[in-house]
Amino acid sequence: MELGLRGKTALVTAGSKGLGKGCAMSLAREGVNLVITARGREALEATAAEIRKTHGVTVSTVAGDITSPEGRAAALAACPSPDILVNNAGGPPPGDFREWDRDTWIKALEGNMVTPILLIRAVVDPMIARRFGRIVNITSGAVKMPIPELGLSNGARTGLTGFVAGLARTTVRHNVTINALLPGPFETDRLQANFDYNARKSGKTAAELRTARAAANPSGRFGTIEEFGDACAFLCSAQAGFITGQNLLMDGGAYPGTFG
Ligand code: NAP
Repeated sequence: MELGLRGKTALVTAGSKGLGKGCAMSLAREGVNLVITARGREALEATAAEIRKTHGVTVSTVAGDITSPEGRAAALAACPSPDILVNNAGGPPPGDFREWDRDTWIKALEGNMVTPILLIRAVVDPMIARRFGRIVNITSGAVKMPIPELGLSNGARTGLTGFVAGLARTTVRHNVTINALLPGPFETDRLQANFDYNARKSGKTAAELRTARAAANPSGRFGTIEEFGDACAFLCSAQAGFITGQNLLMDGGAYPGTFG
């Protein structure tokens, strides 16, 4: 299916690896020119080169921490008026809430709630003026099914989700949609880091935990970044203009409710 995105521009934050890279790749395949960001320049440039070579689109890079004011300003300077915004950033660390002080909470809220909101604020009115905009926030399956040790993530991302639920109903009449993708377990560095963390606490090896987690998923496996990216590209498509304020859970069926 042709997604009607050729020649559009997307800002994909935290796009050098993992889920963000999957989104960037799928959008590029649809002919979208990209600005991608990440903190580490080496992986960022390697990913940009890979996307250019594979799909022939224009890819610009911005190295910086998207959760900082400077990082956001640099990203927006490089891409002030995207047609598509994919909001992504690293997740907060796991831990015990008794050890989290105010600064820890503020950092998590800034990273996974305030940063995407500020980026939406910067781009949404030009999207409305052009009568086309697609915003996809990468959140987490933990928004629906909290993971106890990821309390910082559960809290910050649910705050973002609640805010967007209201905003998304005000922009859709201008053909500007805002949706979230909620990843369950996907094959990325981040997933491996979670196994490493839990291995230190459980006495099992990370490899054992990994095998058990994949086996316990109804699909018997983890998701791929290509599957994730293709879902993102569809939400960004011309055809998806009637889908807004939704939270699409991609977890291989792990969430046990009747309504996903
Ligand atoms: P990943 O494989 O570790 O990749 C993270 C990407 O984000 C990298 O490109 C990284 O590059 C970049 N990044 C991280 N922090 C950044 C920052 N502050 N500013 C700019 N770029 C930043 O992680 P992932 O698995 O794709 O996860 C992406 C998001 O989905 C995270 O928020 C994660 O918590 C969430 N999530 C993932 C899963 C999963 O199973 N993978 C499940 C639920 C939720 P640099 O390090 O160079 O900056």
